[in-house]
Amino acid sequence: MSRFFSKKYAALEPYTPGEQPQDMQYVKLNTNESPFPPSEAALKYAAANTRQLNLYSDPVQEVLTKELAKTYGVGPDQIIVCNGSDETLNFAFMAFCDDGMPAAFADVTYGFYPVYAQQNRVPYVEVPLKEDFTMDVETLMGLRATLFIANPNSPTGVALPLSEIERLAAADPDRVVIVDEAYVDFGAESAVGLVNRYDNLLVIQTFSKSRSLAGGRLGYAIGQKELIGDLNTLKFSTNPYNVNSLTAAVGIGVLRDPEYMKKNCEIIKSNREYLVAKLDELGFRTLPSSANFVFTTRPGTDGAELYRALKEKGVLVRNFSKPRIKDYERITIGTREQLDVLIEKLKEILN
Ligand SMILES: *Cc1c(COP(=O)(O)O)cnc(C)c1O
Repeated sequence: MSRFFSKKYAALEPYTPGEQPQDMQYVKLNTNESPFPPSEAALKYAAANTRQLNLYSDPVQEVLTKELAKTYGVGPDQIIVCNGSDETLNFAFMAFCDDGMPAAFADVTYGFYPVYAQQNRVPYVEVPLKEDFTMDVETLMGLRATLFIANPNSPTGVALPLSEIERLAAADPDRVVIVDEAYVDFGAESAVGLVNRYDNLLVIQTFSKSRSLAGGRLGYAIGQKELIGDLNTLKFSTNPYNVNSLTAAVGIGVLRDPEYMKKNCEIIKSNREYLVAKLDELGFRTLPSSANFVFTTRPGTDGAELYRALKEKGVLVRNFSKPRIKDYERITIGTREQLDVLIEKLKEILN
């Protein structure tokens, strides 16, 4: 730290992203990317429709926003697009939390939530997941706080039924409930259909997982226009050009080829079932997943050691040091071929 670094941030612990090694080719199952490239049709559309790069990108991203509005059956003024859903989440922490309204989220969830809370210097409460890693809805019901709920949750993959999200939104109209649906397309119920009934409900989604566009950095929020307006106030006070023209063009192309995404999600779901069965045979216990990854542990096997052994054999998974989950691995669902390599390496290590 230089002696010039603002005291505001002196204690900030930055988020640790999953490894993106450039040194060798791993079977990369650590950051929940799609194993499939973006659709050909989307890339073709983008090549033909990218706005001239000597001009700034459209700050309201009108075409992209309208395409999203059509996809989800809401008005264009109910959507904001951002540089990845991470940026959307940061704007939500900025917009809807303060000293009188802390943030609340699970103890085991997306590691960025506490970082955004710290960066924005808002107080936060971590609500422990229950023994079986499901959400402690009853505790959340009575909390006067802005709720951040990853659904399905990461790193667990466990989904919360839509009826529970609705109960949380209805319980207290004076707090905002933010549902982070990064993985919703892999089998959970989306809360988008509820936003017109609850003016305190905000749904955040991303192109990074089911739509094969992690490198494009494109995320969005859907809610009633007042909530979206607040996020826009912050966006236009930070970086009006947060979505670049190349990414916007690919994003529009992706939305115009929904069949490709659907097909890929079906492959991932079937590969997930395949992997869970193989892990069962090897003595692992895997949480029920509605996402493009599984969270698994093997009684008697050290999680950090297994992670290292797999890495040595060229397979990257994610292991977290947090005591409660240190013996679990989060494994992204890849192609069948990738999963077969993983299973083969696991067998070698466990023998
Ligand atoms: C991957 C992920 C995101 C971030 O997605 P980007 O759109 O790539 O920024 C947000 N929330 C959760 C829970 C995630 O796992």
